[in-house]
Amino acid sequence: MTIENESVVNIEALLSEVDVAMRRLADGTYQLCAVCQAPIDRERLVDNPLLTTCVQHPQLNESDDHE
Ligand SMILES: [Zn+2]
Repeated sequence: MTIENESVVNIEALLSEVDVAMRRLADGTYQLCAVCQAPIDRERLVDNPLLTTCVQHPQLNESDDHE
């Protein structure tokens, strides 16, 4: 059984996101938007625990559907 390179890259990306989330948790900024420091909706965090931004500041790595 082999792990494809793409999977490894995805895992590494995920781990780095988790690392950022852990730091934000230690910082006390976990629930705050990285851009405007507004509190992030708890429902959205439950949905995606790695969120770092509020609804008004979509994460760069999410689909960039600019209006
Ligand atoms: Zn924001």
